[in-house]
Amino acid sequence: MVALRIAESTEPTVRTKDELRALAEEAGRTLEGASAVEILTWADERFGPKWAVASSMADSVVPSLAAKVREGVDVLFLDTGYHFAETIGTRDAVAATLPVNVRTIEARQTVAQQDASFGARLYERNPDQCCALRKVMPLRKALKDYDAWASGLRRDEADTRKNVRVVEWDEQRSMVKLNPIAAWTQDDVDRYITDNGVLVNPLLFDGYGSIGCWPCTRRLKPGEDARAGRWSGTGKVECGLH
Ligand code: SF4
Repeated sequence: MVALRIAESTEPTVRTKDELRALAEEAGRTLEGASAVEILTWADERFGPKWAVASSMADSVVPSLAAKVREGVDVLFLDTGYHFAETIGTRDAVAATLPVNVRTIEARQTVAQQDASFGARLYERNPDQCCALRKVMPLRKALKDYDAWASGLRRDEADTRKNVRVVEWDEQRSMVKLNPIAAWTQDDVDRYITDNGVLVNPLLFDGYGSIGCWPCTRRLKPGEDARAGRWSGTGKVECGLH
């Protein structure tokens, strides 16, 4: 059985993987209906500095919420080497203006090295492998430093996300997963952005509904769901992180 350490208040506590899983599952039930800040505060009280936020820099809603709970919280940004310039700019603006510690996580190989190993434009031939190399594996490695991680997943974004819990067990990484805005609607997000002056990737005002790597992201057509512009025409709907 794998033993994982949790810093609870100031006293480190050691819990087994099964205990951590039970903790996450119970919180998923009891924190349903709690505010995003309450959910992140629950995590902070149990994990201290050993929780982080993963952000794609489509907006900085979750980094902003996390900063209210823990100043200097780590915000992980996966730099795939394929980001739009606007996304890199949003990352830099978040790092400069929010009281968070932005950590840029890179893949083991540069894009040029990957091209040499697997051939150019792997994203066209095998996007699952490309996402595994440039997103899934680097995030898995980075998250080894933490006991819990938070993302901006929302139930109303896609069918694949409609059963997301506000706190759940991340089986893939054996750690606690926080989805503090799982129950938010797009209107909730827009209101929070307006009320709090939250930084937003400018591409969201340029026809994009969801922002990922440039080879796999296109502008939306009228009436399409926000994520329809991701891996369009391939049948792929998730990168494998969630
Ligand atoms: Fe590669 Fe596209 Fe996945 Fe980015 S989104 S890692 S370019 S397949």
